[in-house]
Amino acid sequence: MVESRCGILCSECNYREQMNCGGCVHIQKPFWGEECPLKECCEGKGLEHCGQCADFPCDLLNQFAYDEAQGDDGKRIAQCKMWKAQP
Ligand code: SF4
Ligand code: SF4
Repeated sequence: MVESRCGILCSECNYREQMNCGGCVHIQKPFWGEECPLKECCEGKGLEHCGQCADFPCDLLNQFAYDEAQGDDGKRIAQCKMWKAQP
């Protein structure tokens, strides 16, 4: 089941309870800002997740995934690939 647009597993995220976040695919905007550029881009293309995109993994997604402070060493990109491989 797809949990986010970028591949983050919202079910494993501590903020879900702390910030009462419904999870990426269920919310209009994230608690941390006006909008998430990845969510905006992905939903704007009518895609379920970034792995379905012709430009995957784009520079922006790479930037988020490998960000020194907020990134996850590409884990979310690998997750998108797994979602894409699912029947
Ligand atoms: S970074 Fe953006 S696309 Fe990724 S889970 Fe958070 S809101 Fe969704
Ligand atoms: S991979 Fe990049 S260009 Fe494609 S939907 Fe995701 S954020 Fe947008």
